Amino acid sequence: MRTQEIGKNLYQIELETGGFKNLICSYVLKGSKIILVESGPTSSVPRLVEGLRELNVPLGDVEYVAVTHVHLDHGGGAGTLLKYLPNAKVIVHPRGAPHLIDPQRLWESAQSVLGFVSEIFGEPEPVPRERLVAVTEGLLDLGGGAKLKITETVGHASHNLSFFETFNNGVFPGDAAGTYFPEFDLVMPTTPPPFRLDLALASLDKLISLHPSVLYYSHFGKASNAVRRLEEYKLQLQLWEKIAEEGLKENQSFEQIRDGIVAEDKVMQRLAGYLMSHRIYSKTALGNSVQGVIDYAEQAKQAS
Ligand SMILES: [Zn+2]
Repeated sequence: MRTQEIGKNLYQIELETGGFKNLICSYVLKGSKIILVESGPTSSVPRLVEGLRELNVPLGDVEYVAVTHVHLDHGGGAGTLLKYLPNAKVIVHPRGAPHLIDPQRLWESAQSVLGFVSEIFGEPEPVPRERLVAVTEGLLDLGGGAKLKITETVGHASHNLSFFETFNNGVFPGDAAGTYFPEFDLVMPTTPPPFRLDLALASLDKLISLHPSVLYYSHFGKASNAVRRLEEYKLQLQLWEKIAEEGLKENQSFEQIRDGIVAEDKVMQRLAGYLMSHRIYSKTALGNSVQGVIDYAEQAKQAS
């Protein structure tokens, strides 16, 4: 089964990008309007379209594809997906919009940061300018009394949006709330450079103030106790930053700071082995996230 009903009017599509389960998913909200959250990467678009067919969603009925941000794994497939969805528009942060219109720079930087993983995600195709809706805050009426609140939650990226849906009182945070590992019921920071801790914490407070019951992670799946998870994620980010700051004071190397984080963060103690043995996560997860908090700590040190 590629698709799963996970709430009222809400479905999850497992994209199985590169053959990996529990890595990236998209979501479908069926009100009187049909909205997708996350296009996923280019290489997964055929699977996403199959998922829509499995859910009996007429492709012409999809009105919006809301992408949390333009990183390849979230919005990279938007241009390709629109070829299948004749009436859909893409909702994106204004700072992300230029990269969807002309994805060349985004693709080049993804290739240099992600290496072979960028090839697994696939090269993004451009989104026609007239099919973009660029917003930072907004409210979409889904019909049936339900609404989708669009809200800016930067920090992970300078252009991350989150979406709050009132059918089930749930939030789609994109990468603003970390990566969720359903096999472990644990969350780890997703903080690649140029990560901004100050903005990330403010964004998490913004999500907490919505009092969501559930989170729908793009990586990966639905998780309950949303507010508690968001609070814990704030603490985890602060712990990582503290370890990076102290490490820099002692002139520690990247490896020493990384090992310090794994040693002091109980979640990482449980996840480290899994991450290291995972073909994608070993490339994208721990190293990039540790580098992001080190860079932020370095800038904070220079500013003080
Ligand atoms: Zn991501």
